Amino acid sequence: MTDKEREELKSIILQRIEFLLVLIDSNACGNAHPVLDNQVPVNMFDAGTRGPKSSVIDQSEIELTQLTRTLTWLESAHVGLCERCKQAVSFERMKSNPVSRLCDTCTEQQLGDLND
Ligand SMILES: [Zn+2]
Repeated sequence: MTDKEREELKSIILQRIEFLLVLIDSNACGNAHPVLDNQVPVNMFDAGTRGPKSSVIDQSEIELTQLTRTLTWLESAHVGLCERCKQAVSFERMKSNPVSRLCDTCTEQQLGDLND
């Protein structure tokens, strides 16, 4: 991964964090925007534990934690390397899904595990 790509990812993540903080804030104040429900990506690690009406705040906080971890990952020596197999994760993949620190193969395997 080039420095330029890393900077681009960081700005994407920081924008997303800012968006989530606003989202959490507006929901905490009771000004829930139902339409935003659909914009919170389904968290694949949390698929089994979501309540009937998935809490936007819970989802957002989980994503915030993951985004913060990705930021740390971007600063680490393992930047751009899959957390499971240490193969390079494609830049396009990270851009479209910044909370993922797994390559395509490992993501598929993980989804397969969850579906078992
Ligand atoms: Zn992998």
